[in-house]
Amino acid sequence: MAPAAHCWRHRPSEGGAGLIRITNVSKWYGNFPALKSISLNIEAGERVVICGPSGSGKSTLIRCINGLEEHQNGEIVVNGIELTSRSHGINEIRREVGMVFQQFNLFPHLTIRKNCTLALRNVRKMGSAEADAVADKFLARVRISDQADKFPGQLSGGQQQRAAIARALCMAPKAMLFDEPTSALDPEMVKEVLDVMTSLAREGMTMVVVTHEMGFARQVADRVIFMDHGQVVEDGPPDSFFSNPRHERARAFLDQVVH
Ligand code: ADP
Repeated sequence: MAPAAHCWRHRPSEGGAGLIRITNVSKWYGNFPALKSISLNIEAGERVVICGPSGSGKSTLIRCINGLEEHQNGEIVVNGIELTSRSHGINEIRREVGMVFQQFNLFPHLTIRKNCTLALRNVRKMGSAEADAVADKFLARVRISDQADKFPGQLSGGQQQRAAIARALCMAPKAMLFDEPTSALDPEMVKEVLDVMTSLAREGMTMVVVTHEMGFARQVADRVIFMDHGQVVEDGPPDSFFSNPRHERARAFLDQVVH
């Protein structure tokens, strides 16, 4: 984990060919190859679901996109900005790409509103009243205005995850990355989070979602990417992925997760 080991380099002359461009990206943990020469192009407005067996590299891939993990080979360019392996620049990444984690990752000692305003104040240098107004707008958007003055531990899991989504939206990201956003939730809370994500998708947000929620993938995704052993094995529209997966490993996966 080396979030500070990256910097983003503006390459405006090469913009316009995909909001997120991943070219021949490889990553090792020690000798273990977690990502093996991944290439993907994600356009603005696309809704992409990444699925695959546990340990196939899904989380590593999206953590590389926002610079939480360092890739060793290849190139990642988001909105014309290249992520390189030089030092500093994490705040630039946060401006471009919002991230929602399985375990919410809210700061427990801050109220929900303050969780939302922290980066606005520190990164965007916004004044207190303006930051509060932005936070309140997005807390209303995820329908938890009434929780704004509480601490994360006082909220249900579904409410905490909606707060985490609001916190990411406050930064007006170009794209949102979701790393198994419903996996830590009790079943009755999964829908309220998926509903928020579905409405974001309908509004045109570019989304990359690692999830086992295949109903969401069917209904919301433009594209389903299936990963196995650090590689992209399938990449296509949900209809063809679900009705006619080309690879045996994808068929075996679907047999397990689609009931
Ligand atoms: P997925 O999200 O598909 O479950 P991950 O991207 O979390 O897979 O992990 C891919 C592989 O990399 C797994 O074999 C996992 O054990 C390994 N891995 C993930 N994070 C680390 C780490 N920090 N150190 C060593 N190995 C890791």
